[in-house]
Amino acid sequence: RLSKRLETVASFIPKGAVLADIGSDHAYLPCYACLHGYASKAIAGEVADGPLRSAQQQVEKSGLSHLISVRKGDGLSVLAPGEADCITIAGMGGALIARILGDGKEKLAGVKRLILQPNIGAELVRRWLLDHGWELVAERILKEDGQIYEVLVAEPGDPRRPYRHLEAELLLGPFLRRENSVVFREKWRREIENWRRIIADLTAKGQSEAAERKKRELERKVRLVEEVLL
Ligand code: SAM
Repeated sequence: RLSKRLETVASFIPKGAVLADIGSDHAYLPCYACLHGYASKAIAGEVADGPLRSAQQQVEKSGLSHLISVRKGDGLSVLAPGEADCITIAGMGGALIARILGDGKEKLAGVKRLILQPNIGAELVRRWLLDHGWELVAERILKEDGQIYEVLVAEPGDPRRPYRHLEAELLLGPFLRRENSVVFREKWRREIENWRRIIADLTAKGQSEAAERKKRELERKVRLVEEVLL
């Protein structure tokens, strides 16, 4: 059975898509997508040898070698332009996801949907999408084994459309903020606790200018998020 996290990612793949799953590791996602008819075929990209081997083994074991091409390379470099119309990047930090999208910009022509699941730093992914013409069209937040995950779905469009309060919603997610679910509130309560701990540490340590700046920045974030949660 696929994790709830990857099942959520898969649920956004348009039926019949040619999928590219970048950083595929065990290739569970493209295998599941092809077996369940979400994708008509897929490319699994991996940069590291161990995960590449486990992707190849999983594809063979699933009898999907005719539908899934496993390729070694950094980010979108494994794709020919126009080859895929849906790209998934899951289980990495937001900074790495943004870097992969930025480095592979010319491979995004013809892509109709991005489905991104940053483990941390979703704000950086939303910022990248906003700056590069991708409109966020849906978001999900879910909890599995005590971890909270966000899934971001984007299409070419008007990147500003979903945002009302840009600063708060780049951080929180415009759809997630409006939905204001129990898991969303838990995530941000945890974040606030964490920021408060850091602020207390910085206060105890005293007066360097960098520490003061960091402290003010965190205090601003606490206020921003608290306003939304209250
Ligand atoms: N996508 C799978 C998931 O969500 O379960 C695997 C996530 S795993 C934590 C991250 C994978 O991304 C690793 O296998 C790693 O080798 C791969 N990776 C990291 N940087 C990459 C890059 N620049 N290009 C392709 N793959 C990368």
